[in-house]
Amino acid sequence: MKKFYCLLSLTMILSASMKAQVREGGDPKLSEVWQPEPRVVTPGRTSQDAPSDAIVLFDGKDLSQWQGAKGGDAKWKSQDGYMEVAPGTGIIQTKKAFGDCQLHIEWRTPDAVKGEGQGRGNSGIFFMGLYELQVLDNYHNRTYSNGQAGSIYKQSMPLVNVCRPPGEWQAYDIIFTAPRFNNDSTLKSTARITVFQNGVLVQNNFSLWGGTEYIGIPVYKVHAEKLPLALQDHGNPVRYRNIWIREL
Ligand code: MG
Repeated sequence: MKKFYCLLSLTMILSASMKAQVREGGDPKLSEVWQPEPRVVTPGRTSQDAPSDAIVLFDGKDLSQWQGAKGGDAKWKSQDGYMEVAPGTGIIQTKKAFGDCQLHIEWRTPDAVKGEGQGRGNSGIFFMGLYELQVLDNYHNRTYSNGQAGSIYKQSMPLVNVCRPPGEWQAYDIIFTAPRFNNDSTLKSTARITVFQNGVLVQNNFSLWGGTEYIGIPVYKVHAEKLPLALQDHGNPVRYRNIWIREL
């Protein structure tokens, strides 16, 4: 609290002094900040490529960063630069745990269109294994709006439907902020998410209501600061490729 008031009074003194400087013609140096200096990161060749400080979770070669959600090896297919849901083998999750992060992930629903609504190219990206960003073929395929591609499942519909046709690769770029909990396990701050699908904003800093639920109202249950990222097996052979993450 003391720190806060010190900071507040410093800000007030600074801004009063800055206003005076501006009135007198001004010293632009007063409003320059030099420390700390942002660290250097080498960007990818394109915005799809992993920058130098990213952890590559799938580079098209193997599932070494992944395991079955119930333990054991990840049993999904991995070939020709992509991984594919092997229906019935279950959810896979990263070996490493993550909290706040930036995630890039590319996905492709099957070109052979089968099923409708939630049954067509369904998978999903579960942040911390709990909070689902839906993956679904919603190219001329209607389902409930808060359950279509780009939705935070059953919580927030996407701002627009920017799905490519089935069989084409699509990309999600996501900023996820983990929820925070107080020492007594009550919620301190909600999880938040911003999502771009194929470069278009579909979720704008949405505050999640709790963990994803198929039935009923989502609620928060206290959990660790970091948990594995999971990908859903919903019985459809959805593909993923070029997955990288930056811890924030
Ligand atoms: Mg799903």
